[in-house]
Amino acid sequence: MDKITSQLAEFFSLYPNWLVLTGAGISADSGIPTYRDTSGTWLRNRPIQHQEFVQQRESRQRYWGRSMIGWPNVRDARCNANHSALVDFEQSGRSTLVITQNVDRLHQAAGSQNVIDLHGRLDRVVCLDCGAGYERDRVQQELEELNPQHRGFEAMARPDGDADLSAEQVRDVNIWDCEVCGGMLKPDVVFFGGTIPRERVTRCQEALTAADGLLVIGSSLQVFSGFRFCRQAVEQRKPLVILNEGTTRADEMATLKINAHALSLFREVTSSLAPLMQSRPPQGINHG
Ligand SMILES: [Zn+2]
Repeated sequence: MDKITSQLAEFFSLYPNWLVLTGAGISADSGIPTYRDTSGTWLRNRPIQHQEFVQQRESRQRYWGRSMIGWPNVRDARCNANHSALVDFEQSGRSTLVITQNVDRLHQAAGSQNVIDLHGRLDRVVCLDCGAGYERDRVQQELEELNPQHRGFEAMARPDGDADLSAEQVRDVNIWDCEVCGGMLKPDVVFFGGTIPRERVTRCQEALTAADGLLVIGSSLQVFSGFRFCRQAVEQRKPLVILNEGTTRADEMATLKINAHALSLFREVTSSLAPLMQSRPPQGINHG
């Protein structure tokens, strides 16, 4: 083990119970692209905003048209070694909960037991008017029937199951409405500018209060929904460990930040962890 690897292993033995926060970097190896490059800037066009989606029919046409093309990429994605490492971490007794900003359900597919989908899940669709729920695959069938002109269309897939589509192609996208009430359907995810259900945030905060530290893996923490847990960890004087290949918004407040080869280091460390026999967290830690 090199210096940084043993430093990480030492953290995991000093502090036995971690709340883990994961982001797009975890799923990139599964073929689900990240939103931002390593300096935190957008790789593609700005993703869809919540207000645009609910207020503008054209935005919904664009979303569903792109999503019809991009969804199979997310649906068929398979979990990778990063997801497996988090299963090992949980089974070794060191992770109390995984909070993921990803909407791909790959942590659950890999076998993680205790996961909160902070931003929701892309495999479900909800009616904003009556609350009816649909499987995303069902919606896919309906969309493909309504839009034969777009079937088999090749486009760049995006992280939220979106894809690139021209304005002209967007104009003739037909939207499928709720079959119960005719209302507006939305994927069961929190778009940018949308609100995470209060009780979901509370569950995460309670888990952080009960944990010894916060471990962030594969997120640039640009979105406040994840960043707030870093702040909370620091306020509670708990170690904040960040493993991310690139700059994050919380680098300055991290107790330990690992940049280069962060994910492979984590995989290496978790593969050598012995199951935890007892947990007795040390009290207090200095930040900075
Ligand atoms: Zn409805």
